[in-house]
Amino acid sequence: MTDDLRVTLAGVSKSYPGDDGPTQVLAPTDLTIDGGEFVCVVGPSGCGKSTLLNILAGFLEPTEGSVQVGGNPVTGPDPDRGVVFQQPNLYPWLSVRQNVEFGPKVRGVPRDQRSTDAERMLTLVGLDHLVNRRPYELSGGQQQRAQIARVLVNDPRIILMDEPFGALDALTREKLQGELRTLWRDRRKTVLFVTHSIDEALLLGTRVLVMGTRPGRIIYDEPTTFKTALPDPTFATLRAHPDFIHMRDEVSAHIYAAHV
Ligand code: ADP
Repeated sequence: MTDDLRVTLAGVSKSYPGDDGPTQVLAPTDLTIDGGEFVCVVGPSGCGKSTLLNILAGFLEPTEGSVQVGGNPVTGPDPDRGVVFQQPNLYPWLSVRQNVEFGPKVRGVPRDQRSTDAERMLTLVGLDHLVNRRPYELSGGQQQRAQIARVLVNDPRIILMDEPFGALDALTREKLQGELRTLWRDRRKTVLFVTHSIDEALLLGTRVLVMGTRPGRIIYDEPTTFKTALPDPTFATLRAHPDFIHMRDEVSAHIYAAHV
């Protein structure tokens, strides 16, 4: 594992001021994610999954504790940490290609280079035939693909995804899950992926975290070891595996316990 990609949270908590004093939404949390891990986070609504992701992204400052990537403190957003949200936030007045080229353009990447990079990314996500369309001329799945290309074109080493496939139909969702898994495997990215779907967490993750509520905290943290013996399993093979079913029951019991 590459140490310069290690993400470390030490005693990280988050509180918001309220009428009756501060409310802690994330209890002091320690977490280490090694380079190349695919960590999926599940848990009931409001347990702090997005808060955790936004702190890692550098969008939110923790109330206490420190966040480091490769030993360097996180002090704000960074192109090395790409973030994908549930709703694609493409610029409606730009074409798909211009949307993908926007970040590199702002960073001063020369025109030829950014055009080549954008084309490569749009091919990767299967949108190379729609590069001149505006976002409103795309389906929800195509918009999310464009959004993913827009993030990946910056070649972030860490990808943070907050329910990226939550608004998609089942078929598109499964297709994008497969594409993301291939991309992670081929390019060895570090991924933190928030989802409501236990199946999605187990299919994609090398490790699954469950968060509990009041205050938000990690109550379960286990690797998906059942995958290591299966070289390149299909999602159907994984779903039918007895250890997958066992882990799904275990994760589900933890989420249920966190809910009541
Ligand atoms: P999840 O992603 O698991 O649904 P969130 O991280 O979005 O949970 O939210 C965790 C808790 O923090 C929720 O109870 C939410 O209401 C609260 N919260 C989020 N943002 C704010 C804010 N700006 N002010 C006060 N409370 C907030």
